[in-house]
Amino acid sequence: MYETKMLAADEAGIAEAAALLRRGEVAGMPTETVYGLAADALNSSAVEKIFIAKGRPQDNPLIVHIADFGMLDGLVRDIPELAYKCAEAFWPGPLTMILPKTDRIPLTTSGGLDTVGIRMPSNKTARALIKAAGVPLAAPSANLSGSPSPTKAAHVFSDMNGRIPCIIDDGSCAVGVESTVIAFEGSAIRLLRPGFVSADELREISGEVIIDKGVTEAVANDAKAASPGMKYKHYAPKAEITIIDAGTAAFIGYCSSKAAADDVLMVFDESEAQGLRQRCIAYGKTDEEQARRLFDVLRQLDEIGAKKVYARCPSKDGVGLAVYNRLLRAAAFRVIKL
Ligand code: AMP
Ligand code: MG
Repeated sequence: MYETKMLAADEAGIAEAAALLRRGEVAGMPTETVYGLAADALNSSAVEKIFIAKGRPQDNPLIVHIADFGMLDGLVRDIPELAYKCAEAFWPGPLTMILPKTDRIPLTTSGGLDTVGIRMPSNKTARALIKAAGVPLAAPSANLSGSPSPTKAAHVFSDMNGRIPCIIDDGSCAVGVESTVIAFEGSAIRLLRPGFVSADELREISGEVIIDKGVTEAVANDAKAASPGMKYKHYAPKAEITIIDAGTAAFIGYCSSKAAADDVLMVFDESEAQGLRQRCIAYGKTDEEQARRLFDVLRQLDEIGAKKVYARCPSKDGVGLAVYNRLLRAAAFRVIKL
């Protein structure tokens, strides 16, 4: 058991967390996507502590975070030209690239794979922490495995209190959903997990962007997933969520006739809730706002003890695809199209 300390996102807080990381401990780290659970990516026993703290399956690989291009040296090999183009366009930022790894990255970090996901975050505190630690940091989302990703330090505390020595509190995450994950296949980019960097933006780098089946469909548990994280249920609150793919009028019509009085509705905006007797929680009018608020709203559903939830379907375009991908998993793929 640890006494989990909240640290400020200042020089002293970063120095304290970096010292723990250098000693092979784990630290809660803010990034622009979601909060991460960081450890020295090159230290197998440090990385094992991440899996234990999260209760994460060991074949689910971690993303390695770097602060500058120099840190890439010796971590990956055979970097394709397309990867340099993507790095130039989107780093620092919410894009993870899957590349062949060298022996410096332990198999514990890569979940047994011979590739590794690499990302250069844009959040200033994250970058300062990586620099101060002096090593690349492996960091999955800082939630307990199966619960929604944390977008506030309080979310991390609620899942990790007693399990890790410290969390750096840097406020709410600017993006709110995990990074876009891509792999390279010749001249094509395969989108493994949608995020803030959209398929359209990637198409400007390579005309050939393949959207992996796992983005919008369930992946069988025994299947060899291109992106292992996609086969796990993920992000799920205790409530049973159903996505209603419909316009405002049809959504209201469905909920007035089908939803029970104690069901909860996840709407874009409070104005949609007028005339409905159920409790409504708004999760955002734009794709960006929905991305920022989704995980917080999923946690709120647990706090209010929601049992059955009907959710408006996000747009599936731009960042909306990332919101849809996460909500779909939270809803265990229950969708009603009207
Ligand atoms: P998280 O750290 O919780 O955001 O999850 C990271 C996710 O990135 C994993 O669950 C995988 O889906 C994906 N990922 C990380 N490394 C690899 C890799 N080497 N190959 C394919 N997907 C990866
Ligand atoms: Mg995660």
